[in-house]
Amino acid sequence: MPWKKETPAGRPAARSTRIESRSRSEVWRKPPRRIEPSECIQCDMCVRNCPPEFGAIFDRGLDVVIVPELCSGCPVCVLVCPVDCIYVDAEWAPTGGVMWNHVALTAGG
Ligand code: SF4
Ligand code: SF4
Repeated sequence: MPWKKETPAGRPAARSTRIESRSRSEVWRKPPRRIEPSECIQCDMCVRNCPPEFGAIFDRGLDVVIVPELCSGCPVCVLVCPVDCIYVDAEWAPTGGVMWNHVALTAGG
């Protein structure tokens, strides 16, 4: 598929490529965001508004989480969150295998 080919220098890879490589784009200058679970009311506004080319937010039922490798830090979700519980995550940790499996299953990644 065309979007799976290498991208021109300086452009971020497609979301599907980021999921395959489980890595964040080095082109993105902003740090990713994280959701504070103790403050989140699970309204899913952020899930619905995260741009599809990023698709970084997942409602897992018990919580709503951002996969930092998929999050550009744009930050649309911050603007729509009614309780202001999405924070900069400069010290983000790599996403674990269980969550990547969830991403692949729910996002067709
Ligand atoms: S900052 Fe942007 S890319 Fe990251 S989770 Fe929020 S809406 Fe999605
Ligand atoms: S918009 Fe805010 S309160 Fe709603 S699910 Fe997202 S992080 Fe939670």
